[in-house]
Amino acid sequence: MAKRIEQIPPYLFAEIDKKKEEMRRKGTDVIDLGIGDPDLPTPKPIIERLKKAAENPRNHRYPSYEGMIEFRTAVAEWYERRFGIKLNPVTEVLSLIGSKEGIAHIPLAFVNPEDIVLVPSPGYPVYRVSTLFAGGIPYFLPLRKENGFLPILSKIPPTVAKKAKLLFINYPNNPTSAVAERPFFEEVAAFAQRHQIIVCHDAAYSEIAFDRYRPLSFLEVEGAREVGVEFHSLSKTFNMTGWRIGFAVGHSEILSGLGRVKTNIDSGLFQAIQEAGTEALNHLDTPLPEIIDTYERRRDVMVNGLEEIGLEVDRPKATFYLWIRVPRGYTSAQFATLLLEQGGIVATPGNGFGEEGEGYIRMALTVDEERLREAIGRLKKIKF
Ligand SMILES: *Cc1c(COP(=O)(O)O)cnc(C)c1O
Repeated sequence: MAKRIEQIPPYLFAEIDKKKEEMRRKGTDVIDLGIGDPDLPTPKPIIERLKKAAENPRNHRYPSYEGMIEFRTAVAEWYERRFGIKLNPVTEVLSLIGSKEGIAHIPLAFVNPEDIVLVPSPGYPVYRVSTLFAGGIPYFLPLRKENGFLPILSKIPPTVAKKAKLLFINYPNNPTSAVAERPFFEEVAAFAQRHQIIVCHDAAYSEIAFDRYRPLSFLEVEGAREVGVEFHSLSKTFNMTGWRIGFAVGHSEILSGLGRVKTNIDSGLFQAIQEAGTEALNHLDTPLPEIIDTYERRRDVMVNGLEEIGLEVDRPKATFYLWIRVPRGYTSAQFATLLLEQGGIVATPGNGFGEEGEGYIRMALTVDEERLREAIGRLKKIKF
């Protein structure tokens, strides 16, 4: 096996899946709050459009690398309605086979061996792994509760900032469910400009927000469009994780760098799926009220229950995750194991998202309310 694979621990969820399967084999009724994959179906109009589009022979051939102009125009129009930003669909929008694909490939375009990439910890594991695959060195930015789970850019040593090529940020955040406001994005844009760093903002959860809260786009702040790109996904917005469709927007040269990597690796995104994505962006409101209402109710059931039990958790404004402090005397892994063995409940140990996630577990609100109530009932019976 190549060193680049050997240096990577097994994908976080693979380990958890194995344990979970073991429990199931032993006959336990497992409640899986481990994985961030919506349980709700894709809205009907999107499916209907896919069916029709799949019949069209025009869609059976190789798609264009950068995406159909109809899809990229739908993205630009959605972006303007949602964030008030005009994008050129030809140069400032790139289709992706899910946003993970773009995030995984972008370091190949901009990171030379030994270059530094600034990576949040805890964070979505792909930032770190894609950095390593490109030969880069991840420098971890701790996300801590006392700072609202935002990195403190002024603590980055100048020697590190000088060697940094990319900065990954992600708000609303997975796994902490924190959100970022304008002053933070402004600080990021200024920092990136000062040090000539490319900002990659992962906005996968921009449309999963509650209580009428509307997350910002990084590109809304001054200077951001000169330094950054933003990754979006239809996965969480429209319950389309299995479809593999996302896009990147922003700085045209940065997108063309990513595009050059992609032309050498993949051959674009099935056009019927692009048509379905066009349908979603053109005709469905975001955030989708049915989705948001469901998660909001689940959030309240779960947060209320956890508070009764005495576990420390914030009521998130966005994302479908709860970031829960583990009780004194436990590590993340020990507490997750306790929940699995004594309650049949799968939660993700926070340290799986990076060292700074130690002391937390993450629960995903991707099971129905009844199961969440059942989970709370079981948690009440566990002594910790
Ligand atoms: C789910 C998720 C993604 C990936 O979404 P796809 O578009 O399905 O690849 C990206 N970033 C974060 C933080 C996520 O949680």
